[in-house]
Amino acid sequence: MRYGALEAGGTKMVMGVLNENMEVVRSTACPTRPPDETMEDILAFFEGEKLDAMGIATFGPVNLDMDSPEYGNITSTPKLAWRDYPLYKTIKEALNVPTLVDTDVNAAALAEATMGAAKGLKNILYVTVGTGVGGGLLLDGKLVHGMLHPEWGHIPLSRAEDDPLQRGICPYHALCLEGLASGPAIQSRWATPAKEIPVDHRAWDLESYYLAQLCVTALMTVSVERIILGGGVMHQETLFPKIRAQVKDMLGGYLQHPRVENLEELIVPPALYPDSGLIGAGLLAKAAL
Ligand code: ADP
Ligand code: ZN
Repeated sequence: MRYGALEAGGTKMVMGVLNENMEVVRSTACPTRPPDETMEDILAFFEGEKLDAMGIATFGPVNLDMDSPEYGNITSTPKLAWRDYPLYKTIKEALNVPTLVDTDVNAAALAEATMGAAKGLKNILYVTVGTGVGGGLLLDGKLVHGMLHPEWGHIPLSRAEDDPLQRGICPYHALCLEGLASGPAIQSRWATPAKEIPVDHRAWDLESYYLAQLCVTALMTVSVERIILGGGVMHQETLFPKIRAQVKDMLGGYLQHPRVENLEELIVPPALYPDSGLIGAGLLAKAAL
């Protein structure tokens, strides 16, 4: 089998061909430009590949309603050129193979649960903390779409009293996760790129306070068995122990389960970084067949 995979991101597109074992046999990337120009590069990569199926892991919001004629359309993105762009339809018409679309984070969750940091688990959350914040949720072994798809990046949070920001940087919400904890939020708070903030700076205590709220919400609402935190900001490794400590504190001993006793295995980094999106897209292609 030859599976085509596209990881569609706001800054770059990654294209790959994967074999039956989900090994990437060929891949390339191109910068994301307006759709027509970008699609030319994407389709040129897959031309002549004799694919059996195709998987698309994309930035959102995206229409995931398989009964809708707009399935696989990008919807209300701030990337204006891509608004309402029929990503699925364009690729499906050009390649003419079974094709599935999901969010980039759902695809990453699927990949980590199939062969990565949550291998064998059926209830997991994958969250990326980068330029934006997004999460993919697998429950009872199925990716959750719901009405649209969950928007973990925009869950409301309690503001820390000592936060120099009075409100987060999200244009829609005063106090949401992305507005308070994304890379650009950190940069705006401390007037320094997140990458350059020293490991002993209190920026990381504040960051873990917000990410711990996310983890507690996920544990209390959908009762996931593992939370994978990835994305550029999580390169700051001091965050993991700080988040776990805050989660323990916030749970207040309420949840009784061996997994909660072992937060080192409950809240973990990804295992497939930086390929989880592409592998996830490959798994979507396999599912499309
Ligand atoms: P994107 O979300 O655009 O796909 P990334 O996941 O790489 O990209 O996230 C980019 C963000 O991560 C930037 O805001 C950057 O400042 C931040 N970042 C990158 N490396 C680090 C690091 N070592 N420590 C903290 N933040 C980092
Ligand atoms: Zn928001």
